[in-house]
Amino acid sequence: SDAVLEVRDLNVDYGLGDDAVRALRDVNLTLYKGEVLGLAGESGSGKSTLAYGLTRLLPPPGVVRSGEVFYHRDGGDPVDVLRMSHAELRRFRWAETAIVFQGAMNSLNPVHRISTQLTDVIKAHDPRSTRASRLDRARELLNLVGISADRLDSYPHQLSGGMRQRVMIGMALALEPKVVIMDEPTTALDVVVQRQILRQLVDLRERLGFSVVFITHDLSLLVEFSDRIAIMYGGRIVEEAASADLYRDPLHPYSHGLLNSFPALRGPKRELTGIPGSPPDLRAMPSGCAFHPRCPRATERCGVEVPVLGIPGSHRDRTVACLLHPVHDNGF
Ligand code: ATP
Ligand code: MG
Repeated sequence: SDAVLEVRDLNVDYGLGDDAVRALRDVNLTLYKGEVLGLAGESGSGKSTLAYGLTRLLPPPGVVRSGEVFYHRDGGDPVDVLRMSHAELRRFRWAETAIVFQGAMNSLNPVHRISTQLTDVIKAHDPRSTRASRLDRARELLNLVGISADRLDSYPHQLSGGMRQRVMIGMALALEPKVVIMDEPTTALDVVVQRQILRQLVDLRERLGFSVVFITHDLSLLVEFSDRIAIMYGGRIVEEAASADLYRDPLHPYSHGLLNSFPALRGPKRELTGIPGSPPDLRAMPSGCAFHPRCPRATERCGVEVPVLGIPGSHRDRTVACLLHPVHDNGF
């Protein structure tokens, strides 16, 4: 197939034993070549944990309890990221999958010029490159993200937030990764700047052919820029569909609630209702479907049975985990 990353039955905990917080539960997700996949869900639903888990960058006490993350190299057999050697992992992390962390625009080193920070990334992976060639490449990367090369000598504080964010994206692209993961890349920036940066990233994706996993709280940006969206609740994926299908016809009552809690981009104005109640406590999850205490359509069965993610009824290319939508196949 044309998958680049396949997450299979991934379970991630924070901590060990009975006190562990089960942050990801049986997550299954495929990222295809060249697509932008959006991850949505309320705070604490596990979006960042998924992003870091699949690159093995979980902060302690995060541990992968079980599962696989298959990375498909061109022409090679898929390799399980969770079983890579340290040497393989090093290459995987910058050269194959690059991640722009939550709040990353503030993670540039304040005492180094932009040029140093860009060339250091290149040097770390290509120690035999010349200084001149690294500087050329740094200039090229700045151009790629719409910053003029004379900014190379600037320090981070001399750049606007939007420019710092662009530098981080340029850095992520330095080694031409196949996958770029952006966790809340632009939330500190105003909406116009956010949109510009995302537009540029999506254009670059078309030119350079990488895939993007994109996490944001802003559902209007997510719908606008993602090809496909996966919705998370309580550490599980509850629905996944093409962005347009999800927007037009969300199947899971949680997705429906989320989409009703943000203003429509275009088309008829929707009434904003939001979702009553609060996200589940991962240490004391409700029985059955974790969403059932907040669900306007819950039945008695929902408090007993955990719905499995699968392909519903007459659909082919979307999945949902909800007892309202009988599924016939898990699609994997
Ligand atoms: P946000 O939208 O706020 O960024 P998120 O969807 O990215 O939220 P995660 O950060 O992945 O959520 O957190 C998932 C769950 O794991 C949360 O309930 C959180 O409290 C818990 N968690 C995250 N980091 C730790 C940690 N270091 N120790 C214990 N629990 C943690
Ligand atoms: Mg997060």
